[in-house]
Amino acid sequence: MKAAVLYEVNTPLKIEELTLDEPQANEVLVKIQAVGLCHSDLHFMKGEMPQPLPFVPGHEGAGVVEKVGPGVTTLKPGDHVITMVTFNCGKCHYCYKGQPAWCVENLPIQMMATLPYGGIRLHKGDQAIHHLFGLACYAEKVVVHERSAVKIRDDAPLEVACLLGCGTSTGISTVLNTAGVKAGESIAIFGCGGVGLSAVMGAKLAGAKIIAVDVLDSKLKMAKELGADHVINATKDDPQAKIMEILGGGANYAIECIGNVDVMLKAFGSIRARGLFVVTGMAPITAMLNIAPFEFFLGKSITGSVQGDIIPQIDIPRYVDLYMEGKLPIDKLITKSYSLDQINKAFEDLQNGKLIRGVIKI
Ligand code: ZN
Ligand code: ZN
Repeated sequence: MKAAVLYEVNTPLKIEELTLDEPQANEVLVKIQAVGLCHSDLHFMKGEMPQPLPFVPGHEGAGVVEKVGPGVTTLKPGDHVITMVTFNCGKCHYCYKGQPAWCVENLPIQMMATLPYGGIRLHKGDQAIHHLFGLACYAEKVVVHERSAVKIRDDAPLEVACLLGCGTSTGISTVLNTAGVKAGESIAIFGCGGVGLSAVMGAKLAGAKIIAVDVLDSKLKMAKELGADHVINATKDDPQAKIMEILGGGANYAIECIGNVDVMLKAFGSIRARGLFVVTGMAPITAMLNIAPFEFFLGKSITGSVQGDIIPQIDIPRYVDLYMEGKLPIDKLITKSYSLDQINKAFEDLQNGKLIRGVIKI
């Protein structure tokens, strides 16, 4: 089967014929139909995060289960599924506490780029090919752990639903789950890419007062369309001062969706006493955040979010339902679709800021 392989960091992906092993215990084989393009892959493709090579990236996959391995109980052939960027084992401290986004198995999967518990099912001749995020979705087919795939309703378009595998569900869940925003509360969302705009949609669902911040008017226009009450172009106005002015004080919540420490400081500075700042953007691994401890005597809090504390088996079907009911218009985030052969062009467009969300149709 065809897949896009990265052999060296900072080089183009190569479309290759690879061998995919049969699904083993608790694994399923999924025929992929669509995959979202996400910046998280780029961090690894550019060598900003350590990673074994070669690997196949791609983690926002959607497709149809073709085969199941021994012991699979949650999926069957014909099921429509989304692959999730975060895995949860169901039996660690965090999984038992109902916080599966923090599952202890996630970090090893991300660092080793294997399936959960170390498996590799991709080969080019004798060479093992790694599965980025335990998935490897830029391919015609994937073998993944059954807990890495979530069943969704059959009538949902896979080329839209794929976005929920990572970025989009991260934005929505960060607002609804991590922050727990309530109707009438205020939230400042810094960065209106795919994650930030999804956060706007989540905040709209929650009934919050929404202020969106970005440096591009085109993205702010989209934020308005999706429900932002106020937008601030940070190249024209100081967002912190402007938020104080609009709200007559700071926001109840701020989210940073870029991974830029200067923006994080602005976001933290924009919350009121007892407010919560959520770090969602992935800053370079060596970056530091400089905050005066005095701020904590104002009762301000900071927390991080991995995929918005999502509980995939509960939240994904609910987001798909909301999309199908027209209450969560995630399809508006899709700027352009590409074929697998056009994947390098797609990543070039992503890096050049031309895409809110791109989709590879397999
Ligand atoms: Zn992602
Ligand atoms: Zn776990």
